Amino acid sequence: MKRKIPKKDKIIEEIKKAVSARLKVESQEELCKLVLRRLKKENKYSLSPQRVKKLALTIPGIEVKAKTKRMPKIKKIDKCPICRSIIIPLKGKNLLNKEIVIGYKCVNCAYQCDLEAFMPMKYIFIMK
Ligand SMILES: [Zn+2]
Repeated sequence: MKRKIPKKDKIIEEIKKAVSARLKVESQEELCKLVLRRLKKENKYSLSPQRVKKLALTIPGIEVKAKTKRMPKIKKIDKCPICRSIIIPLKGKNLLNKEIVIGYKCVNCAYQCDLEAFMPMKYIFIMK
């Protein structure tokens, strides 16, 4: 069976209802689950937590807060997992204008991993 992609307005409506019912939703996965549960009453839908978060950001009544998840320990990689070549750090800046490593890049092939892979963000959705 083919899965339907739900319409934007419909999702926004359900995000509003889901967040206002709880006042606070602790993660984008949780919010996605709540929205899907509501939508499934009518149809089979496929929806990603990232899409739910993006749409939630456009809703004026909802505040989205991002937190960096604490990682137990990031395994240091010093060789490309694909071709075993040297990898170099990708530098970026944080909010305080301090230089930080935001990912790694292989000097030989296209392998690259970014901040999201190393430091997953946690999103919280709050009713304003
Ligand atoms: Zn490589």
